[in-house]
Amino acid sequence: MICDLTAQIDIREAARIVGTLPEVIDFEGERIVTTWTRTNFGGRRQWFLCPSCDRRCAIIYRRGNGPLWCCRVCGGGRYLSEGRSSKSRALHKAFKVRERLGQKKGGIIAPFPAKPKGMHNSTYERIRFEALQVERDILVEDMASFLCVSVDDVPHIVARQRQRGRY
Ligand SMILES: [Zn+2]
Repeated sequence: MICDLTAQIDIREAARIVGTLPEVIDFEGERIVTTWTRTNFGGRRQWFLCPSCDRRCAIIYRRGNGPLWCCRVCGGGRYLSEGRSSKSRALHKAFKVRERLGQKKGGIIAPFPAKPKGMHNSTYERIRFEALQVERDILVEDMASFLCVSVDDVPHIVARQRQRGRY
């Protein structure tokens, strides 16, 4: 399923048009259930529950079989831009930086390489700081796609989980 080309409903856009959605929607003969979570700012946010896996998701996609509507994960959804995404470029850049510092393998999951002999501390710290920011963005993007949320939501989710001592 190519997300960009698949019929979809974004609950945030739907809410903008019709206001709050009911808890159960009968849509084209299929029951779609919504649920609420609290936001960090005292508000609340409505989600679809994927009819296939029950996961909370902001967008459901219309696929050809099974439960008709499903989340991106159940639909095996990919984006058109994924082949040469900003993410793959960022990942490439991140590897290059680590290579320059002497790392041979392990990608960005490996511990960040130590300062090479002869490099100034300040140079190393600058490279390290910039590299870790790039790497953080990549991981956030991965996490967003794993959780079926937008990249902007990840910091809130991580903060919430951290409060509960999960990460
Ligand atoms: Zn699903």
